[in-house]
Amino acid sequence: MRLKSLDIQGFKSFPDRTRLDFNDGITAVIGPNGSGKSNIADAIRWVLGEQSTRTLRGGKMEDVIFGGTQTRKPLGMASVTLNIDNADRALAGMDAGEVSITRRLYRTGDSEYRINGAQVRLKDITELFLDTGLGRDGYSIIGQGRVAEIVSARSKERREIFEEAAGIAKFRYRKTEAERRLTLAEENLLRLRDILSELE
Ligand code: ATP
Repeated sequence: MRLKSLDIQGFKSFPDRTRLDFNDGITAVIGPNGSGKSNIADAIRWVLGEQSTRTLRGGKMEDVIFGGTQTRKPLGMASVTLNIDNADRALAGMDAGEVSITRRLYRTGDSEYRINGAQVRLKDITELFLDTGLGRDGYSIIGQGRVAEIVSARSKERREIFEEAAGIAKFRYRKTEAERRLTLAEENLLRLRDILSELE
């Protein structure tokens, strides 16, 4: 699996449709302070489903939409698409040589996620990247201060990083999902029993 390119439009400091190609070898993004380098990493985090505004260096989610400058009006929508080379089928369950993930957010609060153009839920994006190291909780994006954070993390948090790297995070995720559904089923059962005893 390899990141091929990133399409950004209306996200943070990128009002115009911008494509970044990640060719073979190492890609370095260079530029003056405040020119938008970190916003590119934020765009990758965001399209992978990041929900924490703190991680995205903002106050509220709407802050990711281009907020205007002295010469340009604010925009109403942010859109990011990440194009991934999946020739090695590292993205389990996707029998496609190329996979594109899109996330859009409108100022109205509406948002959408897409995988290869088809509308999906955030859950589908999270599950697609489980154990690949790239997802929202993956270790592929190491932000400033993250190394120090890992070193000083509590053992439970550090264990989560190792579990993702070892490819067993998906089992914990599925266990939590199953427990959540079980709790819901038990609550429904309780309600049914109440109704039944009222009818009897
Ligand atoms: P440094 O080298 O100092 O870390 P950088 O190149 O990583 O800088 P970023 O932090 O990516 O820069 O970009 C900061 C710029 O993005 C600021 O000029 C800020 O005004 C702009 N910016 C952030 N959010 C928005 C937004 N929603 N709308 C317009 N501009 C934005």
